[in-house]
Amino acid sequence: MDGGVRVRFAPSPTGFFHIGSARTALFNWLYAKHSGGKFILRIEDTDDERDRSEFLDVLMRGMRWLGIDWDEGPTVGGPCAPYFQSQRKEIYDERVEFLKKIGRAYEKDGAIYFKVSGEPQLIRDLIRGDVVRREEKDFVIVRSNGKPVFHLVNVIDDMLMRITHVIRGEDHLSNTSKHTELFGAFGVKPPLFAHIPLILKAHGPGKMSKRDSGALVEDYERDHFLPEAVRNYLCLLGWSPKEDREILPIGEIIRLFDIADVNKNNARFDEKKMAFFNGEYLRSLGADEFCRRSVEILGACGIDVAKFDGAYVCAALLLCQEKLRSLSELENFTEYFFRENFSRDAQALEKLRAKYDIGARLREFKVSFEALDTVDEKSVEEALRKLSSANGIPSGEYIHSVRFALSGRSVGPGFFGLVSVLGRDTVLARLDNFIGAEKM
Ligand code: GLU
Repeated sequence: MDGGVRVRFAPSPTGFFHIGSARTALFNWLYAKHSGGKFILRIEDTDDERDRSEFLDVLMRGMRWLGIDWDEGPTVGGPCAPYFQSQRKEIYDERVEFLKKIGRAYEKDGAIYFKVSGEPQLIRDLIRGDVVRREEKDFVIVRSNGKPVFHLVNVIDDMLMRITHVIRGEDHLSNTSKHTELFGAFGVKPPLFAHIPLILKAHGPGKMSKRDSGALVEDYERDHFLPEAVRNYLCLLGWSPKEDREILPIGEIIRLFDIADVNKNNARFDEKKMAFFNGEYLRSLGADEFCRRSVEILGACGIDVAKFDGAYVCAALLLCQEKLRSLSELENFTEYFFRENFSRDAQALEKLRAKYDIGARLREFKVSFEALDTVDEKSVEEALRKLSSANGIPSGEYIHSVRFALSGRSVGPGFFGLVSVLGRDTVLARLDNFIGAEKM
């Protein structure tokens, strides 16, 4: 603890990791990184009715997924351990004794009250500016059941952990004069505060709650969002780089980020924008990285690509990269490259049948395809154009019919790429299969 910036994220157990909390963690982390300081994770678990271990798993998993690592806290330890408030009871008892001794705490009806000074409290807030509040009434710091109250433990820990900046949600601004009173009683200068604006739900008034779609970090992981995209989007909920750019590497965000630049106004959550960011990140992934992540996800969907040639796997995946908005679409987008029993869109087939004579188009295509020496994109395209003009049938009829026979879908990657990656044998086998089935 060398006098540098020390910030902390201090969640209370809830059982899920809300993106509002994630954003608070992220702003603390960004500020620590920006200023070369330390980021501390402290678990405010004095309320032991909730299941702590499950919460901790969800929380730490979500933070790690987002790439928000902590310098001190659970699993890594540090000079101010323990970092669980449930393990710090003696520390709090000692401080309450101190407050009693100096006449700033007293017992009433079994509870312990803090005696306020009644002086106006100056809150130095880097986002809101100076705020002055006065605490009129003494308040409880230890309940009659012996449990210390949030205000007390929060301040003691910020003091003992030498926190220099308290960056937290705006909903705590109204608590802060209690906190500065307590710091004053302990004879310690309060940290600087930064109360960050709330995140409003996508539509209508009110704060985003855990029930709102897109509110939980764990859902993004489940839906195979890219963590870098989610993190980039969260950075912009209440902050923006001056040059108006939105998608930027985390190193640059760290360089540009300053807590004083955080917006005073509430930020509105926009799920569509998050999805857009995800698509942008997805398309900008390098080929190797895209293939590596895709293979992992396909494996989890029961598609083991190991039995295919590596070049084939990559070619198939890269063909789809351009069209994907999210990796959650990956299985549906690519399964027919890896499964013979791929799903077929019955409705799309009905529509095609109503418009075209699919069987005739497939037979005609097959004849010209079979005659090709090589089945690269260009040759397939040339053959198809020729076929179409020779028969006076729009090329779309061939493309839609053949695409369906090969993939069971009416949408997908570029048609000529699809044919060329699947290759001669698979294409012919699938055409034959489909023609055979149509005849029955
Ligand atoms: N445990 C509090 C919360 O989750 C922490 C508040 C603070 O950061 O000071 O809201």
